[in-house]
Amino acid sequence: MRAQIRLGSVSGIRIGLHYSWLIIAFLISLSLAGHFRMNNPEWGDGVIWTTSVFTSLLFFVTIVVHELSHAIVAKSHGLPVRSITLFALGGIAEIEKEAGDARTEFWLGIIGPITSFVIGIICLTVLYGFGWRPPNFPRTPLLAMLMWIGYINIMLAVLCSGECQAPEVKLMRPTGCKLPRL
Ligand SMILES: [Zn+2]
Repeated sequence: MRAQIRLGSVSGIRIGLHYSWLIIAFLISLSLAGHFRMNNPEWGDGVIWTTSVFTSLLFFVTIVVHELSHAIVAKSHGLPVRSITLFALGGIAEIEKEAGDARTEFWLGIIGPITSFVIGIICLTVLYGFGWRPPNFPRTPLLAMLMWIGYINIMLAVLCSGECQAPEVKLMRPTGCKLPRL
């Protein structure tokens, strides 16, 4: 999948957005606005929308980190990585060569869910450090954002584990990490 909006590059790996990402980013922000409004009715519209948009953007940053973990493992095994593209269904890391052995293929696939899980646990641990206890909903935007990012990454780790597959070069099928249903 070719990125239409280029964001830059990390260690020679191009990071970009497909136009379809804009639609899902809008829908996630919309869904988050409803979620924050329901749980924090005392927040004003400005706070709700700002928190929703920032949470949505931060979520996509965590998807890039997830894809970068696939890319780093691939590169460390001598597999060239062309790009990372965010699109409507998640993110893909285009790796230009097959893993070659089952062990590399395993790590190439499993590292994404591990990364998302670690991100999720870090978010919830920080939240816990700030005094949050489940099932309460955090009252401040920053902590509410952290909780959503924490939960969604743990969910992504569980639901994406079957989707994070090693690439098949001949078909140019990259590792695809689809978003869980929100
Ligand atoms: Zn993945």
